[in-house]
Amino acid sequence: MMKTNTSTFIGCDTEFDDAELVIFGAPFDSTTSFRPGARFAGNYIRNDSYGLETYSPYLDLDLDDYKLTDIGDLELPFGNAKIALDMIEDTADTILNNNKFPFLIGGEHLVSLGTIKAAYKKYPNMKLLHFDAHADLRDNYLGEKLTHAGIIRRCWDFMGDNNIYQFCIRSGEKSEFEWSKEHTYMEKFSYESLSKKIKEIGDKTPVYITIDLDVLDPSIFPGTGTPEPGGIFFKDIIEIIKSLTGLNIIGADVVELAPHYDQSGVSTAVACKVIRELLLAILY
Ligand code: MN
Ligand code: MN
Repeated sequence: MMKTNTSTFIGCDTEFDDAELVIFGAPFDSTTSFRPGARFAGNYIRNDSYGLETYSPYLDLDLDDYKLTDIGDLELPFGNAKIALDMIEDTADTILNNNKFPFLIGGEHLVSLGTIKAAYKKYPNMKLLHFDAHADLRDNYLGEKLTHAGIIRRCWDFMGDNNIYQFCIRSGEKSEFEWSKEHTYMEKFSYESLSKKIKEIGDKTPVYITIDLDVLDPSIFPGTGTPEPGGIFFKDIIEIIKSLTGLNIIGADVVELAPHYDQSGVSTAVACKVIRELLLAILY
């Protein structure tokens, strides 16, 4: 069932059966509200990852010391979010049922819903950590329930209160910020409370990490559909990922790179490095 791809993220070329972690891509951007293009991220990331080393000086760990695989991008119907999400969930189910970590590369942020649903079925006591410029708490956007502006709200539908932690949020409707006060933990603009929350969650509770790359400042990450000035910088995301090593991470995703908006290619380079570090934080 799992097809292999000749192009993989660097260091992720073990056979599926032997792998402890499985990367897959969801090239879907049909609900993007501003600038589409995130569907192209997967293969840009795979290609440019060869500009990186497998070794991380930040974590002093090496991808080559682990068994990782990258099964490539799914073939998704662009016009149907429901079917696309079902396919993503099925793939994540297969990975989780084989006792491997799922690692999803978007695509727009909505694709995370498929993997998070699958993870929640296996780990009903799990927590969700969300890093983003946007609250993503809209109950509907232009009448649609399934959109990248409401992905976290859709996770709350099944996860409920006290299980979702949002950091660095700097954009959204007033109603989203009001709603979050009752239903999620949200730190606006920064992540000063992250280490305290990590201590509270502890090293046993299963945790899923979703990183919307537009959490980064557009000056270092312009290649995204909805750039928001006032973001965090690369050393911040490294500090965040290093602190995540204290958690029992069971799955993760990195979404919203739209490579064509950055002709310099720096945004893709940033995405590659965030992915390398997050992979190693899961395996830590
Ligand atoms: Mn988002
Ligand atoms: Mn965002």
